[in-house]
Amino acid sequence: MDFQLDEAQTMLAEMSDRMGREQFAPKAARWDREHEYPHENVEALRRAGLLGMTIPKKFGGPERPLIDVVLAIEQIAKYCGVTARIVVETNMGALGCVMAYGSEAQQRELARRVLEDGDKPAIGMTEPGAGTDLTALKTRAVERDGGYVVDGTKHWITGGGISKTNLIFARVIDREGRDQGIGGILVDLGTPGFTIGRVEDAMGLRGIPEAELIFENCAVPAANLVVCDPKDGFKKLMNGYNAQRIGASSVALGIARGAHDLALEYMGQRVAFGKKLKEFQGLDWMMAESEMQLEAARLLVYRAACNARLLPNNVMLPQMKEASIAKAFTGHAAFEVVSESLQMFGAAGYSRELPLERMLRDVRMFQIGGGTTQAQLNMIARSIFPPG
Ligand SMILES: Cc1cc2nc3c(=O)[nH]c(=O)nc-3n(C[C@H](O)[C@H](O)[C@H](O)COP(=O)(O)OP(=O)(O)OC[C@H]3O[C@@H](n4cnc5c(N)ncnc54)[C@H](O)[C@@H]3O)c2cc1C
Repeated sequence: MDFQLDEAQTMLAEMSDRMGREQFAPKAARWDREHEYPHENVEALRRAGLLGMTIPKKFGGPERPLIDVVLAIEQIAKYCGVTARIVVETNMGALGCVMAYGSEAQQRELARRVLEDGDKPAIGMTEPGAGTDLTALKTRAVERDGGYVVDGTKHWITGGGISKTNLIFARVIDREGRDQGIGGILVDLGTPGFTIGRVEDAMGLRGIPEAELIFENCAVPAANLVVCDPKDGFKKLMNGYNAQRIGASSVALGIARGAHDLALEYMGQRVAFGKKLKEFQGLDWMMAESEMQLEAARLLVYRAACNARLLPNNVMLPQMKEASIAKAFTGHAAFEVVSESLQMFGAAGYSRELPLERMLRDVRMFQIGGGTTQAQLNMIARSIFPPG
């Protein structure tokens, strides 16, 4: 077991930290305030080689391990949670599912879109009537005229309306009308019958739209089907999605680390009762507790990333239990750490003049999106109380 980063990883983390501090921090408040997607950051990330880091060499990617993506995300999230999420979605999520289970043509095309166009693939699972209980989803992909016709509505889809590539979870019905279980199908933005509905007025991470995707008689070629396996299709898709949980945890961890760093700095400056804040033992203990939470969260996230197992194509998928533990622990710990950091600033922390209030709103998401804390606890519980 080795807790040291190698030279290339140290350089990657330093570069990501520098980009975050110099390029992303100055405009982070603007994306939030204006509800604006940071296109210029996507291009900067693409040029720096931070999009599609996990894409296999045979498709033109650098094929870096999952832990490297985690290192980059954590550093960037200290300064801009929205931009860090773009790194997640261009390395994990839909990309992970397609790279693990898609056809070679799908993999090649998605690799090109991410690496050359900076496309941030979206993953459409959640529906108004199916969130934690995804098996209740109603969207259908019905085989017809040599292709599939998709009907249904997804909501809270990150990047909806921005992402050209959309991996949609749907119940697949074959041409004989037989239910083939839940599968994944790719639908490009602009396909007739695919429209964008309501965009959420979300509490945080407001620089990426959370949108409704509406499919009405939307015909796509048969070659767009990613997974169709009546026995294991849904399991495969959820497996493919596991890496996203590590990515989400890394964003939460980075936001919390960023807030903690700001608080430490402020405590060395702010004077009360003739002493600097850092000279009050009660406050030091609050920060020491936060430090422990951050270190524990980081170990869990790094472990899940390092233990990811290798699938064909060098796709790395974390184990379900490790990913769930990392996400449940980090989501909670990160929120507590940001809240304690904000507390160090007193009223100033509650003002929009400083980034703390935005960080608190942003970090709250990670106990919900990508599977709620309770959903993670269910998965952990299932692993310690196996069926039967
Ligand atoms: C910012 C953001 C981005 C998102 N991005 C995406 C995206 O890109 N793609 C996508 O498909 N979805 C996305 N989502 C949706 C997200 O995955 C769902 O919100 C989440 O899975 C929970 O579903 P729900 O909101 O329907 O809550 P529900 O499933 O209705 O749950 C409500 C409450 O009940 C609890 N609960 C439900 N079932 C159980 C149970 N069996 N045991 C214990 N507790 C339970 C939940 O934990 C929660 O507290 C996003 C959400 C947010 C907030």
